[in-house]
Amino acid sequence: MHPVHYAICPGDPARHRFEVTLTIASPDPAGQRVAMPAWIPGSYMVREFAKHVVRIEGRIGGAAVPLARVDRDTWQAPPTDGRPLVIRYEVHAWDLSVRKAHLDRTHGFFNGTSLCLEVEGQTDGPHGVTLLPPTVEACADWKVATMLTRVDGDDWGFGTFEAADHDELIDHPVEMGTFDVVDFEACGIPHHLVLTGVHDADTERLARDLSVICSHHLEAFGAPYPIDRYLFLTMVVGDGYGGLEHRSSTALVCKRADLPRRGDPETSDGYRNFLGLCSHEYLHTWNVKRLKPAAFVPYDLHHEAHTELLWWFEGVTSYLDDLGVLRAGLIDATSWMELVGRTATRVLRGGGRHVQSVAESSFDAWSKFYKQDEDAPNAVVSYYAKGSLVAMALDLELRRRTDDRVGLTTVMATLWQRYGDGRGVPEADIEAVCSELAGAPMDDFFALAVHGVADLPLPELLERVGIVWNTRAATGDTDRGGKTGKLPDGGGGDLGVVVAKHAMGSKLKSVLDGGAACAAGLAPGDVVIALDGLQVKGDLTARALALPPGRTVRVHAFRRDELVETTAVLQPAPSTTVFLTQRDSVDEATATRRQHWLDGTTTG
Ligand code: ZN
Repeated sequence: MHPVHYAICPGDPARHRFEVTLTIASPDPAGQRVAMPAWIPGSYMVREFAKHVVRIEGRIGGAAVPLARVDRDTWQAPPTDGRPLVIRYEVHAWDLSVRKAHLDRTHGFFNGTSLCLEVEGQTDGPHGVTLLPPTVEACADWKVATMLTRVDGDDWGFGTFEAADHDELIDHPVEMGTFDVVDFEACGIPHHLVLTGVHDADTERLARDLSVICSHHLEAFGAPYPIDRYLFLTMVVGDGYGGLEHRSSTALVCKRADLPRRGDPETSDGYRNFLGLCSHEYLHTWNVKRLKPAAFVPYDLHHEAHTELLWWFEGVTSYLDDLGVLRAGLIDATSWMELVGRTATRVLRGGGRHVQSVAESSFDAWSKFYKQDEDAPNAVVSYYAKGSLVAMALDLELRRRTDDRVGLTTVMATLWQRYGDGRGVPEADIEAVCSELAGAPMDDFFALAVHGVADLPLPELLERVGIVWNTRAATGDTDRGGKTGKLPDGGGGDLGVVVAKHAMGSKLKSVLDGGAACAAGLAPGDVVIALDGLQVKGDLTARALALPPGRTVRVHAFRRDELVETTAVLQPAPSTTVFLTQRDSVDEATATRRQHWLDGTTTG
């Protein structure tokens, strides 16, 4: 038995409660404190996991002892005479996301942050976990998938596992159920794709494609590799999307329709998204799990940990994820440029990009990016989306300044050499490393792109590699950009709103600062039901676009249950929808630069 040992049992999974028995062999004689983490690394929001703990009780030598509450996350046992302290508790598990825990008779999933109390003073020592099977016959065929180190039991079976410390313990999510396992290798390393849920996916194709992507990233960072086995834990659902990175695994939620179907060789938009998601989480094995902000070393899981560097850890990862799918040969440059165009469109459509820098967005992730409200388009910029554009601009700018001797992969490799051991990257060091590699200060670039709110010089930077940054107006509510679009003749009007579908018309999710709707007194939550006396059925963007800018329109809307009537003067539809195109005829030098950039090669 380990000095800190958890026995975890799903009981009858229909209760949605994991039953946990924590045994502390040598508790603090002055009174042991235990605490549930309040957030999970990779998802920067305080989630108060302690709130899901129910029926907690302590025992010493078989006798019940009181557990006093200390604060939101913490309990304290009374002083002991050196005998082991046993704490039993249940954790409600009904969150079908990658961030918490979920349990029913079809499967169980948990992160250690939801189930494993920290034993204060002993978090740096070894931890043991015994995973027990469900107690009902209906779940008799369940298996287990986790990257925790196995101590006993068969492969994929229940049994005992261990971790070097609490930080490792909570970094290996656990799936239990009757999942499918798809095995493949990348650079000689065994990988497993675990699929939970109803699906009819072409698992051979998944294995083939993921192997190419993983091999690409392993080779880009080079040996020695940080992993000797890797697990993609995938929950397949009708509708859902998400991923969370861990040191040698990732937890994913994906849409059934996004997985490739047997006999269909096409790469659908959905499958392209899934490959990008896998590529993204796998890249985090390096960027954020090992190369991480100094502010995360060690993680304080009871308070917000602020860093201005999430633009690097999420933005660069977002830039390189789809680029990795391109470089692995699974999509072509046109398909990749469509994805870049969509990301750029998301950034350009929000005025928040002129209010908040990506450094500020990183710092305030806890209160702003993760808690977006109706004002978010006006006040918040995504350190993912704009961060990935900053990464692209940095890649192109480094190449411009060094005549292709240095690119973003050079920076990544240097950071990996210096900080890959997990010591933490100080806040100023990414700029310092870029300046060092560029051979001259890059403070002007960082002031503009990372700390500034002006638009990035991407049109000029892309021109150098023979790619054109085109912009146009949105053609309708569902136009996500990335492609050309046909605008109506004689039209071009705009209300300046972000809309959602509503049974009665179009619901205003957000009203953009300075737009026509804002000037007309319309507000977030209003349901627009008519323009110029004619019913609005869905596409409000297209309705406004069909009319000329400057036209005054009558607007009828419901605010709560009250009818609002107003007039709005349409503004010119902004050119904030982006699509990239390759110049057909470019000189040889430009063509070479473009190839180097897309391939990720440098001449240094
Ligand atoms: Zn990420």
